[in-house]
Amino acid sequence: NRMARSEREMPPPARRQQARFEDLPEYKQVMTQKFASEQLGIANPFYRAHQTAAGATTVIDGRKLINFASYDYLGLNRHAEVLARARDTIGTFGISASASRLVAGERPVHVALEEKIADFYGVDAAVCFVSGYLTNVAAISCLMGPKDLVVHDEFIHNSALAGVKLSGATRRLFKHNDVADLEHVLRTVAGDYRRIMVIVEGIYSMDGDVADLPALLKLRAEYGFWLMVDEAHSLGVLGKTGRGLAEHFGVDPREIDIWMGTLSKTTSSCGGYIAGSEALVEVLKASAGGFVYSVGLAPVLAAAATTSLEVLEREPTRTAALRRNGALFLKLAKEAGLDTGLSSGFSVVPVLVGDSLRAVQLSNDLLAEGVNALPIIHPAVPEGLARLRFFITSDHTEEQIRRTVTLTAERLADLTERNFGLGGIDI
Ligand code: PMP
Repeated sequence: NRMARSEREMPPPARRQQARFEDLPEYKQVMTQKFASEQLGIANPFYRAHQTAAGATTVIDGRKLINFASYDYLGLNRHAEVLARARDTIGTFGISASASRLVAGERPVHVALEEKIADFYGVDAAVCFVSGYLTNVAAISCLMGPKDLVVHDEFIHNSALAGVKLSGATRRLFKHNDVADLEHVLRTVAGDYRRIMVIVEGIYSMDGDVADLPALLKLRAEYGFWLMVDEAHSLGVLGKTGRGLAEHFGVDPREIDIWMGTLSKTTSSCGGYIAGSEALVEVLKASAGGFVYSVGLAPVLAAAATTSLEVLEREPTRTAALRRNGALFLKLAKEAGLDTGLSSGFSVVPVLVGDSLRAVQLSNDLLAEGVNALPIIHPAVPEGLARLRFFITSDHTEEQIRRTVTLTAERLADLTERNFGLGGIDI
């Protein structure tokens, strides 16, 4: 037949060269950075291995350090009750859920955790996923599609961004924490969208400032969007009893359409959750790919997170201590002339230092003095807005905070005096 003949007459396809990982621009960038830091004699501040559970203090290379690089905001990672419950749960269920909850992975500890989260928030229902990152990807891509519009803060976390991209929805961003700009975007965006979602963070992870919930709700009444709040850095932090952004502003938590959070920070476990209405949770459990087609949260992690929430509820002094420490850090840093950017002084206080090289060197200088604080550099933030990011915990002592702020100001002044930075260095 004709098909077979034309196939016979076709010349063999030209051999296609396989792409090389070494040629990827990302690889070249990493190698350039490594080369530059070797030339300049600057140690890599990333992947420092901690030889203990990292909280207000940690151990690196056998040295005990003051630590400002842990998300264990309320010091629950080694809490006796959390550990005991985790051990019991391992005894009963082993480590893994071994399957999607839909098939053979459901355990009573999953439902207990979801009921606890819903109860803690004061909403109807919750569902948990195996990581915070996956929670954003799975939930956003499930709820939104190509006919929809997502408008998000320009500094939203990478996981939310990934979810929006996967959803195929039209994506617009608004200026950081600027509700007037959000309104401008909503007013001027062209197109007849099926649904609109607005995504913000309770406390922003890079800057430590707080979303303006009342203004967002006012806007929602007019534009009819779903409001999604990522509480990765505000659960257990904002509000007198740590219930987050709604408590901070005295707003009924049911007013917010989609609460999202991670179990890896305040609740010292691993996983993520969505909390809200019964219908929202039913939809996600039935059709979010990252829930349906992924293993259930490890039972031990579910039990640990539940116990952490119980302790947090019983001991609001932890939240109070964290807030006291955050406010003290911010106050001292400002008094020392440090640039803390937009931070409101709760869980996250950045100290802006200029370019990436300065941030890396400052981190290394502090390490030499016994303080572990990590730099955030380009491309995570624009070059010139590099910073050291200090995560405050309830376990930090006043002395640790004072010492850290003093050292940071001294070391930074030293770098400035030496005119240390990217300027003039050709890399
Ligand atoms: N959202 C925000 C704002 C975050 O900062 C993070 C992690 N740092 C995540 C989501 C993802 O959470 P997880 O690390 O638990 O995957």
